[in-house]
Amino acid sequence: MPFPRSYRGTVASRGYAEGALFSLAAEAVPYRSSNNPALESDRLRDAIAIAASELTSLVVSASGDAADILEFQLAMVEDDALSEPALALIAEGKDAVEAWRAALDAETETYLTSDSEYFRARAADLRDIAGRVLRILTGANDIEPPPGAILVGEDITPSVFLGRNWSKGGAIILRQGSAASHVAMLARSRGVPMLVGVAGFDGEGGEPALVDAEAGAILLSPDAETIGGFRAAAEKGRSVRAVAGAMANKPAVTADGTAIAIHINVASPDELAGIDAATCDGIGLMRTEFLYGQGDLPDEEAQYDAYSRVLDWAAGRPVVIRTVDAGGDKPVPGFTVDESNPFLGLRGIRLALAKPDIFRVQIRALLRAAPHGHLRVMFPMIATAAEFSTAKALFLEEAGALGAGLPQLGIMVEVPAVAVAPALLKDAAFFSIGSNDLTQYVMAAGRDNGAVAGLNDVTHPAVLELISRVVRYGADHGIPVSLCGDAGSDPAAIPALLAAGLRSLSVSPAQLPLAKLAISGVKLGG
Ligand code: PEP
Ligand code: MG
Repeated sequence: MPFPRSYRGTVASRGYAEGALFSLAAEAVPYRSSNNPALESDRLRDAIAIAASELTSLVVSASGDAADILEFQLAMVEDDALSEPALALIAEGKDAVEAWRAALDAETETYLTSDSEYFRARAADLRDIAGRVLRILTGANDIEPPPGAILVGEDITPSVFLGRNWSKGGAIILRQGSAASHVAMLARSRGVPMLVGVAGFDGEGGEPALVDAEAGAILLSPDAETIGGFRAAAEKGRSVRAVAGAMANKPAVTADGTAIAIHINVASPDELAGIDAATCDGIGLMRTEFLYGQGDLPDEEAQYDAYSRVLDWAAGRPVVIRTVDAGGDKPVPGFTVDESNPFLGLRGIRLALAKPDIFRVQIRALLRAAPHGHLRVMFPMIATAAEFSTAKALFLEEAGALGAGLPQLGIMVEVPAVAVAPALLKDAAFFSIGSNDLTQYVMAAGRDNGAVAGLNDVTHPAVLELISRVVRYGADHGIPVSLCGDAGSDPAAIPALLAAGLRSLSVSPAQLPLAKLAISGVKLGG
């Protein structure tokens, strides 16, 4: 019988949630291909054998129609003809998951379009079989988390986060994870409470939980009195947000009257539903890599559609769309490469330039979407002037072919080399400080590693010194400087950022009112 227990973790996204726990188990872990066809074939054969033995046990305990269905599925799963097309795809270079999915999708389609009603009815069985083998291959759970569930796992990938409907509430508890990870950012931007680094968490699926992601506390199987206290605290937290909410439509101004430009960070046009563009000065960062993580690489039309929707929403306000920043903690199957140290490897602009055919698709989509509004394009992870000029040359080539104009091209300042020597990038139209990466590289403390979270501090004097250096260089040379890292959304960091000279921030949408409230309390003096 569960008994009341409490745990502590690091706040990655603020808020309160009350609900039942749901274990993500292996579901959140992406399938890692061995890149070895023989091994992939073995993995698939093993998964099929496990599926067959699961079905055999189910057949034994079933009766009537259920037994007939299971027997049919068992016969199919044991038939070599079912796995042959998938094994052929593996021999061509696909991994076990891709191959199985593709082969079973094709087979199901054949069943669905069959003239025989018997076969059409069997398509559902095929889907069941496909799902069972996939869950075994990936280690995924077979049950969907119920609405409002509090997801618990070691870590969670962006695609699992994005695949979930958060409108019914819920929260995330991770035993590992980091407040600076991309999922944490997504959680903040959607207002999903999230705690990371919750060591020793042993909550069970279905157990009732209270998540206080303001104080970093979790209570499991609470008694009635604790629930009452929690609800009162949650109510109080909501009223601070309400005070901030009253500022949502006002411009951001410090206590002594300095106007601060405030933009928002987004990852997809869907996030903009319900946000009034008049509450901000535009979009300071659209992270495009999340368009890439959902299966196949997005084609030009899909990207054109996403970018033009965001530009339309902004109604003439500036929109900074960042070219794909895959790699690091954002692997994209079919694009990124396996590396021992991905944060120091082929990510951001390095990867885009290494795979120009993929990059050119994005460039064309951006150039075609530009007439929808005020587009500014930004390159991630720039370390050298040569990277900037090579990327610009690709834009010039594609613009020439399309007969399109060239948007303003700026850069993220997130590699310390550029923050130390910004003059090397004097040809960039604007700078946007990526404090998440800048901090991790300056402090040598991985943004995805909870064990060194204390070192990952944007207010460390070394990080602030670099930020003010870039701000001064920009002011002296007419290059606008903003900051789009998560520090801009953190009320506790905002005074230090403004003191470092920044007058333009880009924040996650859920934090916009709180950022304005924090700005209104800052006295710059002098
Ligand atoms: C950053 O590094 O601060 C940034 C905004 O980029 P990302 O978090 O997407 O790496
Ligand atoms: Mg970055």
